[in-house]
Amino acid sequence: MLQHPSVQALLEKLEKQHNLSSILNLLGWDEQVNLPPGGAEQRAQQMATLSEVHHQLASDPTVEPLLQKLESDWDTLTQQEQTVAKQTRRDYDRATRLPADYVAEKAKLDSQAYHAWVQARENDDFAAFAPYLKRQVDMSIQGAEFLGHGENPYDYLIDLFDPGMKAETIEGFFSTLKAELVPLSQAILGSPIKAKTERLRGFPVEKQEAFLKEVTKTLGFDYHRGRIDVAVHPFCSGNANDTRLTTRFNEDVPLDSLFSSIHETGHGLYEQGLPTNQLHNALGQAVGMGIHESQSRLWENQVSRSREFWQFFEPKYRETFPDQLAGLSSDDLYLAINAVTLCPIRVDSDEVTYNLHILLRFELEKKLIGGELDVDDLPAEWNRLSQEIIGLTPASDKEGVLQDVHWSGGMFGYFPSYCLGNMIAAQLWYKVLEEIPDLPNDFAEGKFDRLLTWLRDCIHQHGKLYDTQDLVTRVTGEPINPQHLIRYLKDRYMPLYQ
Ligand SMILES: [Zn+2]
Repeated sequence: MLQHPSVQALLEKLEKQHNLSSILNLLGWDEQVNLPPGGAEQRAQQMATLSEVHHQLASDPTVEPLLQKLESDWDTLTQQEQTVAKQTRRDYDRATRLPADYVAEKAKLDSQAYHAWVQARENDDFAAFAPYLKRQVDMSIQGAEFLGHGENPYDYLIDLFDPGMKAETIEGFFSTLKAELVPLSQAILGSPIKAKTERLRGFPVEKQEAFLKEVTKTLGFDYHRGRIDVAVHPFCSGNANDTRLTTRFNEDVPLDSLFSSIHETGHGLYEQGLPTNQLHNALGQAVGMGIHESQSRLWENQVSRSREFWQFFEPKYRETFPDQLAGLSSDDLYLAINAVTLCPIRVDSDEVTYNLHILLRFELEKKLIGGELDVDDLPAEWNRLSQEIIGLTPASDKEGVLQDVHWSGGMFGYFPSYCLGNMIAAQLWYKVLEEIPDLPNDFAEGKFDRLLTWLRDCIHQHGKLYDTQDLVTRVTGEPINPQHLIRYLKDRYMPLYQ
């Protein structure tokens, strides 16, 4: 399937590039999990040097004639060969049109800005982080200019995470969601039925860790090819052979580490399901972040917040935490798992209000990158929009504008992927239920392999063979449609909150 001599020649080059990028990735993981603060400056230099070497390989001039040959033979190529050529062209153009000193400077800034963010968040001191954020905004716009997208840098940034997606398309989805979800969340928040999450206190960290390992293993995460560690912000990195998940623990917020671990496990299951024999090229790599998020969301929400899931895991949960859960009925526990509350923190917020948090970030980064909002005015604008969209003003910047890691890494355009992921997850969920109507019964027996196999067949095995909209259409029969998410949220939450 990958036989064209020019593809074969490309694959050799791609293997070296991927080896280097996976080492960079590992250094990034280590930085967030293990690195002592004194090593931060050296790590920034290490990553800058390695990024330069990676950039040299990625901009190797002998790639251009190979790509040109493939482009002239286009109609004779298999779909797989076209996928590899298309992605390599994309990466090659990005590598050759970004100057080496820009790439090295960006890598160094990413590392420094991350540490500045950790510090600023801890001290609730936005002013200390602002200079780094300004440079990230400037460098993002500059990067788009180098790539010939100076006219619409935000579209370019979105495209980095979700190829083909545009701010305007996303805006359309969001206005549909906003019209339905604001009244839905208000109705739920106004309901006399309230979750008793404050009753969940004093869950020892070691026991939380053991329980979440059992859960994630049961869902299908392969610990022979992966691990989970503690970091400031939960994330998933690595690849199919070596998948690194992180989580964080708080004795008094046990559902946070459990569900964020399940979320990251969803990402990990996708990574582990990508074809390992194509690891170095587009056929062994994720489509984009929207599809990636759909996998994490599906496992986190549709699966792990379901009644059936808890029919199986509740007895084990009670066995692990008998004192902490004493006096809490099954219904109380289930309601706590599906609690809807007004919360300033995105990662702690529920499925219903979550999308409003994304809408807020989408508006802000669109203005930041579009030059309509100055970094110094960002905290005030965050608070103003938060009140308008979510219905609350955060008590501090730590709980507001400083809460997320993304912007410290210059990752503007990433947030919309979360919402795309929610929409795609709901759409996939109704499709799999159509094909396997008794699927939830599996969960009640602690079996998740039929779902995982379905996802492997429909999504994981294809790598980048189809782009986001094509893949969703191929699997579900229509492109992304926000109505599925609205239907799902109503199906789950309206009976709970009457
Ligand atoms: Zn995620």
